[in-house]
Amino acid sequence: MNLILLGAPGAGKGTQAELLVKQLSIPAISTGNMLREAMANGSELGKKVKQIMDSGMLVPDDLILALVSDRIQREDCKNGFILDGVPRTLTQAAALDAAGISVDYAVSIEIDDSVIESRMSGRRVCPKCGASYHVVNIPPKTEGICDCCGSELKVRVDDLPETVHKRLAVYHASTEVLKEYYAKQGKLCLVNGDQPVGDTNRDVLKAIGAKV
Ligand code: AMP
Repeated sequence: MNLILLGAPGAGKGTQAELLVKQLSIPAISTGNMLREAMANGSELGKKVKQIMDSGMLVPDDLILALVSDRIQREDCKNGFILDGVPRTLTQAAALDAAGISVDYAVSIEIDDSVIESRMSGRRVCPKCGASYHVVNIPPKTEGICDCCGSELKVRVDDLPETVHKRLAVYHASTEVLKEYYAKQGKLCLVNGDQPVGDTNRDVLKAIGAKV
């Protein structure tokens, strides 16, 4: 099962990806997490993308495609994978197709910008393992501490209100068109993201015909 999760920043792709990893026993490939990891490690890639990411703009397609094609070749992807936050442009989607990286479903998690803007202010992420939480909707067991690895949770720089606004504008300008792209391929499923996490998860599983 090769799956793409589409949706605006803050729609809940990362949260759904974490659930699907356990339910489908396939890895999630989150370009956002990979880039944040590169920044945390102070690698060349991390230095190159820091300013772009902090400002809410998109990282150049060639860097993303190199990252993803490298990751997909690893052994753990042989039974499938979940792409979270990639593709984000028509160029990226076309390059995945051209590389023969086939996709069974593109699931778009649908939610209004206004709901996202209020949700993002409560988001907390683990800088070490990438797990994401929400102070009200998905609180960690201990306030401010990651359930998975015990690290201190942080607010993402790009979750600040003006940057969220910018990222939503970038989504509408460059990424939303992918819904049409995958609809034409008969692969698009729309799922309501404005409901409790478990309900969205149930709807995602139903959309992809998965029994867990
Ligand atoms: P995310 O965690 O998916 O919201 O991504 C955070 C940021 O990483 C985005 O705002 C972009 O700057 C960058 N990024 C992540 N994935 C991509 C992608 N597929 N294409 C371009 N930029 C990306």
